[in-house]
Amino acid sequence: MGSNATPGCFAFLRRSRGTGVGNPPADPGALSRRSHTPHTSEPALRSHYVPEPCGCSLASHDLASLQIREELPPYQSVREAFNKDAQETARIEILAHADPLKDLSLWLNVHPEIGYEEHKAHSKVTAYLKDQGFDVEEHYKLDTAFRASYTHGKGGRVFGLNSEYDALPGVGHACGHNLICVVGVAAIIGMRAAMKKHRIDGTVVLLGTPAEEGGEGKLKLLEAGAYKGMDACMMAHPDGQPAAQHSVLPSLAIQSIWADFHGIPAQASAQPWEGINALDAVHLAYGAISAMRQQLHPSDRVHGIITNGGAAANIIPDLASMKYFVRAPTAKAVVALREKIIPCFEAAAKATGCKLKITTDELTYDLRNVAPLADEYAACVGDLYGTKTYINLKYDPNAALASTDFGNVTYALPSCHPNFGIPTINGRANHTYEFAKAARSEEAHEEAWRAATGLACVGLRVVADGAFANEIKRRSSLADKPTAHVTGARPSAAVGFLVDPGPTGRVGPT
Ligand SMILES: [Zn+2]
Ligand SMILES: [Zn+2]
Repeated sequence: MGSNATPGCFAFLRRSRGTGVGNPPADPGALSRRSHTPHTSEPALRSHYVPEPCGCSLASHDLASLQIREELPPYQSVREAFNKDAQETARIEILAHADPLKDLSLWLNVHPEIGYEEHKAHSKVTAYLKDQGFDVEEHYKLDTAFRASYTHGKGGRVFGLNSEYDALPGVGHACGHNLICVVGVAAIIGMRAAMKKHRIDGTVVLLGTPAEEGGEGKLKLLEAGAYKGMDACMMAHPDGQPAAQHSVLPSLAIQSIWADFHGIPAQASAQPWEGINALDAVHLAYGAISAMRQQLHPSDRVHGIITNGGAAANIIPDLASMKYFVRAPTAKAVVALREKIIPCFEAAAKATGCKLKITTDELTYDLRNVAPLADEYAACVGDLYGTKTYINLKYDPNAALASTDFGNVTYALPSCHPNFGIPTINGRANHTYEFAKAARSEEAHEEAWRAATGLACVGLRVVADGAFANEIKRRSSLADKPTAHVTGARPSAAVGFLVDPGPTGRVGPT
């Protein structure tokens, strides 16, 4: 794996048990009204709880924005007005396609392709969708992206689905994106059957979204307008939570930083005074960031590697490089954290006399799942399969959180990203060889069909129920959105240093 190929991804979100932290919901009736949503009664599993105040300075932590949903009135479910027969039609149709969809999933799993190189997967999946009679646009805005759609009647709303199918370098489909892919395909198949049979007007769109594991494919598709016109969008991801349990949880925003130090080479024994040592700059920067870590908030994550430490021991290194990931609960907090970290590189360059080139990728946002979409998903998989869904829409200090480029989708339109647990060896969840194997099991696929049914049922509700669609739109509009200065790469750097303010072909993780 090259230094620029950096697997990240949503990965597993495993909550800790037994902490019991958190305040009760502002409205005690909120949970009982969600009785169809089987949030467990364990204290640690409370829905929508607020972390206890830690008493520290929150200057770089936009926790106010994390609290925003707590200030909203509880969502009043009106799902009894929805068409349960249509849900059942979707469920039956999905299960009727289980065998060929599993074959497709297994083919993807054993033919892994990394981001933007998913050419075989693109061909295989679009061929299946065309064979099923969908309108399919291959190479949609990106070479390995696609768009499949179905419209019934005239008018109605548009529901979006995302299928990922990229793999990880070295470990293949260790994040289970083969399952994500067929969940999206199954969901559009299920929705189409229900829309036809029950005469539900509207459109369902399935986007094939490349390069989630480093490459920010969804950011590129967003910028290209691929999500334009969608009233809501969802996808589902497998993880290592207990099998047969589903969840809706936040993620961390993330940005990648590349630091290249340029010195002057010299013979390390004969004339070392003639050189400027780039490796020394790397050493100082690593030390400075490590020292700063004690003053960072526990929710911040700054982790990096040395990607180039010089060419030979008898040459003063004239080029040395580092790569860091900066993560925090919100996009704004990542920007604040980034501005703390970059001076560590600048100071190291100044101390050694090196020139510094900083490169950042586009900012990947945190997930802003919309509550009614999450509740409706939980209600559907609960009713149809008895599946329990753990919902926590806020930053959870006890959860192991990663990142996903779907976070940017949730900032752009009403969206939700459920996870579903598949059986795996304890401690061997996403990004392990064992999880790639787990994503081939029969049990994993049974769980995938449940997730697909949940997505299809929510989608039917979005296209069929105007009041529901308005509610998710209202909720989404209340979410704290980033401003222009948050969205791009770093705008400036210290005078005298080399600065590249934009992406240079390097891609970061999600
Ligand atoms: Zn992953
Ligand atoms: Zn993943």
